[in-house]
Amino acid sequence: MSGFHGLFIPGPTNMPFGVRQAMDIALEDQRSPDFPAFTLPLFRDLKKAFKTEKGQVFLFPGSGTGGWEAAITNTLSPGDRVLIAVFGQFSYLWADLCARHGLIVDTVDVEWGEGVPLDIYAQRLRDDKAHAIKAVLVCHNETATGVTSDVAGVRDALDAAGHPALLMVDGVSSIASIDFRMDEWGVDVAVSGSQKGFMLPTGLAIVAVSQKALAMQKTAKCPRGFFDFADMIRTNKDGYFPYTPATTLLRGLRASLDMLFAEGLDNVFARHHRLAEGVRLGVAAWGLELCAKAPKWHSDTVTAICVPKGFNSDDVIKTAYHRYRMSLGLGLSKVAGRVFRIGHIGNINEIMMLQALAGCEMALRDVGVPVAAGSGVAAAQEHYRATAPQFQLSKVA
Ligand SMILES: *Cc1c(COP(=O)(O)O)cnc(C)c1O
Repeated sequence: MSGFHGLFIPGPTNMPFGVRQAMDIALEDQRSPDFPAFTLPLFRDLKKAFKTEKGQVFLFPGSGTGGWEAAITNTLSPGDRVLIAVFGQFSYLWADLCARHGLIVDTVDVEWGEGVPLDIYAQRLRDDKAHAIKAVLVCHNETATGVTSDVAGVRDALDAAGHPALLMVDGVSSIASIDFRMDEWGVDVAVSGSQKGFMLPTGLAIVAVSQKALAMQKTAKCPRGFFDFADMIRTNKDGYFPYTPATTLLRGLRASLDMLFAEGLDNVFARHHRLAEGVRLGVAAWGLELCAKAPKWHSDTVTAICVPKGFNSDDVIKTAYHRYRMSLGLGLSKVAGRVFRIGHIGNINEIMMLQALAGCEMALRDVGVPVAAGSGVAAAQEHYRATAPQFQLSKVA
């Protein structure tokens, strides 16, 4: 079939050609004398993507889920208490993974479509005079509902309570796409993966760790082997790994970081915001509701859209896939059948967003949802026209 399959899921994302080309290479010797000349600058530059100078970043073969496991097993012991708000499938799964490791999980159940409840976190931390809570967990961008939470606000709650718990953040669908400031927000462990904002294939868990969290290794009793930070620290310092690294992905990561830095991280965030605004205006023009309950929670990397009562979002997704060769994100778990998601993370631009909206419009109309043809596309077009970089026709050849 001709043309591209439209990939509008929030990960894996669209891989830039430059990244693909950087990985189209022979496999290499990960113990060669010149490997460190490649890896040491990579480790150093990766820290910029997390906005950390003091922290250390680890690259495990794995996915974001492995990053969650690395975060907790290197810092906590079975029986330790963690506080986590669950407001979507990803925050739910992280809480579940904590329970499987024998942690006591204080879950705050939040309506799906809302973000981290700062007032409840603040209250729990104030009430925990004995400091039984060892870590506070936050899903920065809940990919299931298209909700971004206020991580700096959680840091403020910890500080206001004078609470020493670690602050751990799932940034799998935010880091390198939505503003994230590890040092400034006092984040102790930040987890990401390769196949979202980093625009790579799946296969890396990327974990940034503060000095405070690194020190916890001494007391942390959760069993760990593959994900042990200590083995990484010992070998990474000379540019090597404790076991075979995903060298091809590391080459891709180099290209991806170079692209992100060439655009400028702040420009990358602004682009995601502008493109996401266009999508949200398109949804509003359709007369449909977002899953995110308030603008403060709107995600710039994924938009979850509710179908009207009486319709099944799976029908929209299947129609889009089979008739128009485009992939949309499913409604997961509690919102299955009720929402579909447009991913707008990574290597995306205006025209791609218009494609996504146009395809959604056709599929929505096919299943009988009464949206006006072209309405969402037109709303997004006007937003992109108003906000795209200016240039003077008279000044170009
Ligand atoms: C994708 C995602 C994960 C899971 O990552 P995998 O790479 O699929 O293991 C975790 N959290 C969030 C917020 C995600 O978007």
